[in-house]
Amino acid sequence: MSDIDIRITGRAGRITLTRPHALNAMTYAMCLAIEDAMDTWRDDPEVAVVVIDAEGDRAFCSGGDIAELYATGTKGDYDYGRRFWADEYRLNAKIFDYPKPVVSFLQGFVMGGGVGIGCHGSHRIVGESSQIAMPECGIGLIPDVGGTLMLALAPGRLGEYLGTTGTRMDGSDAIYAGFADHYMPELKWPDAKALLEDTGDVGTLVGFHADAPASALAAQQDQINSHFAGESLGDILRSLRADDGAFATGTLKTLSRMCPLSMACTVELVHRLRGPSISIAKALDLEYRFTYRAMEHGDFLEGIRAAIIDKDRSPKWQYADMNVPPVATARMLQPLGKAALNLEDKQMTTLKIGFIGLGNMGAPMAANLAKAGHDVAGYDSAGVSAEGVAQAASAEEAARDADVVITMLPNGQILRSVAEQIIPVMKPGAAFVDCSTVDVESARAVAQDAEAAGLLAVDAPVSGGVGGAAGGTLTFMAGGSDAAFAKAEPLFDIMGQKAVHCGASGAGQAAKICNNMILGVTMIATCEAFALADKLGLDRQKMFDVVSTSSGYSWSMNAYCPAPGVGPQSPADNDYKPGFAAELMLKDLGLSQQAAEAVDADTPMGQLARALYAQFVEQEGGKGMDFSAMLPRFEKRTRDDG
Ligand code: NAD
Repeated sequence: MSDIDIRITGRAGRITLTRPHALNAMTYAMCLAIEDAMDTWRDDPEVAVVVIDAEGDRAFCSGGDIAELYATGTKGDYDYGRRFWADEYRLNAKIFDYPKPVVSFLQGFVMGGGVGIGCHGSHRIVGESSQIAMPECGIGLIPDVGGTLMLALAPGRLGEYLGTTGTRMDGSDAIYAGFADHYMPELKWPDAKALLEDTGDVGTLVGFHADAPASALAAQQDQINSHFAGESLGDILRSLRADDGAFATGTLKTLSRMCPLSMACTVELVHRLRGPSISIAKALDLEYRFTYRAMEHGDFLEGIRAAIIDKDRSPKWQYADMNVPPVATARMLQPLGKAALNLEDKQMTTLKIGFIGLGNMGAPMAANLAKAGHDVAGYDSAGVSAEGVAQAASAEEAARDADVVITMLPNGQILRSVAEQIIPVMKPGAAFVDCSTVDVESARAVAQDAEAAGLLAVDAPVSGGVGGAAGGTLTFMAGGSDAAFAKAEPLFDIMGQKAVHCGASGAGQAAKICNNMILGVTMIATCEAFALADKLGLDRQKMFDVVSTSSGYSWSMNAYCPAPGVGPQSPADNDYKPGFAAELMLKDLGLSQQAAEAVDADTPMGQLARALYAQFVEQEGGKGMDFSAMLPRFEKRTRDDG
């Protein structure tokens, strides 16, 4: 991923944010990539320390990428934001509890989401340019990503002050408030990192530390304590209004720009957390109660609109007179019941899924989604159904009200006609996920129509065959926006073992046709080699035993052996009933050649494989047979037939 560089250098697991043009703002994909790396390194003995840093002078990380949250939230899709926050908070907790040292180098702006990844590790390093803040009340959110933990633990009433005003702390202030540990001149950072990579020993950092200058925040502590000691936002405002000194006047001016509901909830949150049972899990649980409701009932979307979309800087807040009734705070912070934050695992919300095309692949995929607890309605024009799946009377019926519609259809033409039927009835913000193998052009056209109708669109063809569909071990190759991929990903996790986000719309299909061009060619090679081996008097089992562990091995040989009775169960053991029909392979090879022509790529093996499958399907009775039935075809032939 170009936004983040994850690698192991020497003894250090290295995470570098590489989005300096966007002040290293965290996207959903960056968040998931960091979590994956931390999970992998936890038990890797080579990795002694994790070092997190960022490119550019201006920011370590200025926050979460809120534009996507706004785009989905304004379409009425609150699930994307909820999943993003839940996944982000799980990462924040992981960094906090990580069993190995985590060292972060925090230059420039470190705000919101940046605090979540930069300020929970064991060694948080600041320098001359550091500017750390939790400014979320300015956009209708609350300090989150575990930031309320630090706020509640900060000296005196600093937590209430920093959380409501969003005041920027320099390096010294951040150490004073508990957001950072060590001050180090930034010129020394490269050497400190190099030594960490060489030794994996955080003890080496001591040689680079310097004394932090005096903290300006510490000098204000008494005033902060006296004004921010009240029970509620109202108490704080009353105290400030009664004082005409510079600190009180300036602070009131700052608070007048912030979201009243957010400030009231921040004060309440810090109070609830302070006490002996304080923990990162409790902080994140309380924060999630607010963020879960922030788009639907809070001022978050209005806050982003005013700050970064229209940039008019005049948000229309609820409770604009600053009188936030206690019941409003209580409503935002009441427990979420079944939707509560689960730090153990990815969140699973029951989705309403429409599944169209319940053939060899679609039926087991839909059944797996139903088995996982989703509410699945299926439709197939042949009238077939799938286990645990409610039968819809039409494609429109399956798609109406669905959060996600999945199609698994024979070709691009059918996909386009089904898309024409269902896009007008799908609800805004829902996702249209096409898992069929189709031409890149159809995939892009359908995605464009879906997006124009306010839907999220993903092309996500699969690899792994009917065995993979039944066993939930498919590989998905996906094209579409980050938000669309994130919405579909939990479903890919159920139906498959791996999902790769290949790029924009159509990229999934591009990956698929390249893969299947290799598959078509290797299946033919495997079948002709078996036919040759037969004629050379070689036992098929011996042939399998050798090739499956030698350089001729491939998926066609090892997992889908075309010889009956040899290797794992495959369509060859079932009279070559598909499986993956020869005509579907012909279709895929046709798609690969169509694409190759469009971009002027030389693909002689793919071209020959297409010609052979065309001959097999159209002239030699291969239609309706599995694509591995090339083996009996070759057996029957001699060199003169070639
Ligand atoms: P299939 O022919 O068994 O299933 C397609 C289903 O779509 C059929 O049941 C058919 O009745 C239904 N259908 C056709 N038109 C329809 C319409 N207008 N409305 C509703 N339903 C309709 O094919 P399959 O093997 O399940 O493959 C489906 C897709 O997956 C294809 O694009 C294929 O290339 C791809 N694929 C298949 C495999 C495999 O091993 N079978 C592997 C990877 C990808």
